[in-house]
Amino acid sequence: MLTENASMYAKFGISKEVLGFGTKIEEELKERFAKIDEVAEYNQLKVIHAMQVNKVSEACLYSTTGYGYNDLGRDTLEKVYATAFGTEDALVRPQIACGTHALAVALSGNLRPGDELLSPVGKPYDTLEEVIGIRPSNGSLAEYGVTYRQVDLKEDGSFDYEGIAKALNERTKLVTIQRSKGYQTRATLSVTRIGELISFIKGIKPDVICMVDNCYGEFVEKKEPSDVGADLIVGSLIKNPGGGLAPAGGYIAGKKEYVENAAFRLLSPGLGKEVGASLGVNSSFYQGFFLAPTVTAGALKGAVFAANIYERLGFAVVPNGKESRHDIIQAVTFGTPEGVIAFCQGIQAAAPVDSFVAPEPWDMPGYDSPVIMAAGAFVQGSSIELSADGPIKPPYAVYFQGGLTWQHAKLGILMSLQKLLDAGIVRLP
Ligand SMILES: *Cc1c(COP(=O)(O)O)cnc(C)c1O
Repeated sequence: MLTENASMYAKFGISKEVLGFGTKIEEELKERFAKIDEVAEYNQLKVIHAMQVNKVSEACLYSTTGYGYNDLGRDTLEKVYATAFGTEDALVRPQIACGTHALAVALSGNLRPGDELLSPVGKPYDTLEEVIGIRPSNGSLAEYGVTYRQVDLKEDGSFDYEGIAKALNERTKLVTIQRSKGYQTRATLSVTRIGELISFIKGIKPDVICMVDNCYGEFVEKKEPSDVGADLIVGSLIKNPGGGLAPAGGYIAGKKEYVENAAFRLLSPGLGKEVGASLGVNSSFYQGFFLAPTVTAGALKGAVFAANIYERLGFAVVPNGKESRHDIIQAVTFGTPEGVIAFCQGIQAAAPVDSFVAPEPWDMPGYDSPVIMAAGAFVQGSSIELSADGPIKPPYAVYFQGGLTWQHAKLGILMSLQKLLDAGIVRLP
């Protein structure tokens, strides 16, 4: 068995030593992986149950064109999302271009001039800075008279409850809570912690809308933020809930009124959810959501595996090898540009698509240093597929995530290790 697999790995240039090291680490993670599978099992049942109670039928897999009136598949899928996430309603559309767009729609649909937006968990994801107007931008919420306030996490990562209580005021209409750390150094928030924060906020201001940026978090735990009081949860379909099959799209799930407001903004006042042709994507949205719990589990195993490999080799990893997980992102700090580049080239070399190209750092618009990105994805930019990127600046860390299967994630991580070894950057213990 092992020799058969070893000879397959050899075809990729992976040495017996690298495979042996990886296999040893994998064996130590058996219990951890079993727990991930147990969560996936629960979430798989959750999704199938949601499909059954909403009577998903073959007719749902077909699509509409034009206005998209009476799109059974689209409307039923939105009920499936609502049931699975325990919300009153959901908006799940290919017309939502990405996660940033979904968040922008949810925010601008629910905020009015004179309202204030509060982030009680520090700086939001980079792209939201322009949506909110933290960095001046045409069409930002700031231009429409929506003000913004931010309360940073305390040094130890805990919530600054005193600061949050002070920041909440009569104009605070919506509170935005980002679950994943994104590209920051803070810890990702567990669903339990998000629940604690929401109860605190609602204790002071019951009518405030609590929205959670759920990107990269879906199906990592048995609960979602909507199960612990979030009024809206928002995410991208080319991350976890699309299961790798959704070719584009985003979702907004939550209280009916707030989801409707988002629909009026995405589409048009008066029309809302009634329009928006599904253009042939229904079947991949359903099938992707069906696969999402196990795809997320595979990505999670890859993240845990990488953390343990690189921790053992002496690199700083966030989260560390033992910590509990609340999203699928793994950061590894290599400390040198060469380390970041070799890692990304290894991930690329393991890809099913574009494996023959070697990524190089380049000056991407909007970044203050060259960035290297590895992605050999079926869907452009999909980060539920195995992908990695790193800015070429201190501390020289890479952020990596995804893997539609655990086996692919494993191959990618072993390839990255082989490249680092070949470049003389690491030595096996
Ligand atoms: C990915 C992500 C977004 C949105 O990014 P897009 O690239 O627009 O899909 C927003 N917030 C977080 C935390 C994310 O991880």
